[in-house]
Amino acid sequence: MPAKVKIDGSNQTGTNPGKSKYIVEVLQDLCIGAASCVAIAADTFQLDEENNAYILETDWDQDDVILAAAQSCPVFCIIIKDAETGMQIFPEAS
Ligand code: SF4
Repeated sequence: MPAKVKIDGSNQTGTNPGKSKYIVEVLQDLCIGAASCVAIAADTFQLDEENNAYILETDWDQDDVILAAAQSCPVFCIIIKDAETGMQIFPEAS
């Protein structure tokens, strides 16, 4: 089943019920186009023509790969939440 991606201004929120237990958010205003997320999880993230990451409406990568992509982002603009509870998984609250 493809992901569902909601666009709210420059932020995107995606879910992929049946494939992923995550809610994935990209804060495009913060994205610097480093592309490490794309290198790790190319079925979940791509860059637009302005070098901002966006969430794909594909079948997505495995959850551990998506989490690794978020952890690779140098500016922490990929947010991972638990789709069941809504609790933020990454970045961890300090
Ligand atoms: S790793 Fe972060 S800064 Fe780099 S393209 Fe992905 S979301 Fe943007």
